[in-house]
Amino acid sequence: MSFKDLKLNRPILRAVAEAGYDNPTLVQEKTIPIILEKKDMIVSAQTGTGKTASFALPILQSLFDRQDAPKKGKQVKALIVSPTRELASQISDNFNKYSTYTNLRTAVVYGGISIEPQKEVLKKGVDILIATPGRLLDLHKQDIVNLDYVETLVLDEADLMLDMGFIDDVKKIERLCTKEKQILLFSATIPYKVEQLANSILNNPERVEVAQNASTSKNVNQLLYFVPKRNKIELCLHLLRNTIKGHIIIFRRTKFGVEKLEQTLLKNGYKVESIHGDKSQTARQDALSKFKNRDANILIATDVAARGIDINDLDAVINFDLPNIPETYVHRIGRTARAGNKGVAYSLCSADEKTYVQTIQQLIQVQLDVIEEHPYPLDPKAKPIVHKSKKTGSKHKKGRKSEASKKKKKRWY
Ligand code: AMP
Repeated sequence: MSFKDLKLNRPILRAVAEAGYDNPTLVQEKTIPIILEKKDMIVSAQTGTGKTASFALPILQSLFDRQDAPKKGKQVKALIVSPTRELASQISDNFNKYSTYTNLRTAVVYGGISIEPQKEVLKKGVDILIATPGRLLDLHKQDIVNLDYVETLVLDEADLMLDMGFIDDVKKIERLCTKEKQILLFSATIPYKVEQLANSILNNPERVEVAQNASTSKNVNQLLYFVPKRNKIELCLHLLRNTIKGHIIIFRRTKFGVEKLEQTLLKNGYKVESIHGDKSQTARQDALSKFKNRDANILIATDVAARGIDINDLDAVINFDLPNIPETYVHRIGRTARAGNKGVAYSLCSADEKTYVQTIQQLIQVQLDVIEEHPYPLDPKAKPIVHKSKKTGSKHKKGRKSEASKKKKKRWY
């Protein structure tokens, strides 16, 4: 299928061609015609699938005929709500790119920076508004934003939005818009709470599901290193010195872990940036642009800070800490090997993280390649720390596995 088959008009097709897109991605092919029919939708697709264009292009197309309303008279007709500031600004960049040859105006508003310049932009009138929930409600309260004319409401990364505790804000925003609007809900995963939200606000939605690209990507070489927890930093340095080259993201579970690793890598002369929830908006944005402009080739991040951010062309992903939620592993490694390129995912697993490897392998139906040749091997006898819980804590079982299973899985060590 080509973009022309999607019945997009010339100015949009021209911008799409200039962005270097040859053909629509799967999610675009499936969603654009339905969005143009003005139906509500639930789309399950993660970042990297081209999901932003899948709602941006039909929104621009349907507003195009009314683009020439007097500028001051412009009203917000499309509202995109995003959980994070980085994602909001990324969506806005996309809209600006695709609307180059139209007279449609886009604005983005989010917290953490001064509200005054945002008020000025809004007062001039915009067609498309991208916003994080808190700042949007704030501007509405101050009568700067009028949501009475919203025809399309997009909830992007809905699962993250709910994880971040925005449920009440989202419901409130929905109520502030007109009743007759179209609602498009995009989410990487559709857990029960997202389903519940959809049931409460969407009207007879069409569903599109796009397989998580990384789980099946054969272009990602997935390597596993068993290593004592205390040696992880040394192993990471060893890999950076000898094996891993290029543009890299390193995931850590905690903000403290991110900071600690950043300090060590800086001391060792690496060009590193980091993002996590405790950093100010400006600091996060600054770190991201330095990484994207290649002033730094290593970015260390927590999962929440990195979710939804479009970081392309990564050569490698390092799972410094393994995630306890297997889907998170899929999200992380999906950042490499995009668009048919090759990528490598390195996972450093300490004794207490072995169970995570098992659940990850079950989910992706792939055995990670265990690399035994490295300077900090894990003692095969090292026992995982067993977290005793009421459900599983049995006094007869010291470890997780039977002796027979341990023998079979020897390749793990
Ligand atoms: P997204 O999933 O929206 O974050 O998009 C991921 C990346 O894919 C972005 O860098 C887009 O510019 C790019 N992209 C979106 N649509 C296409 C397309 N049809 N062909 C090639 N790249 C695309």
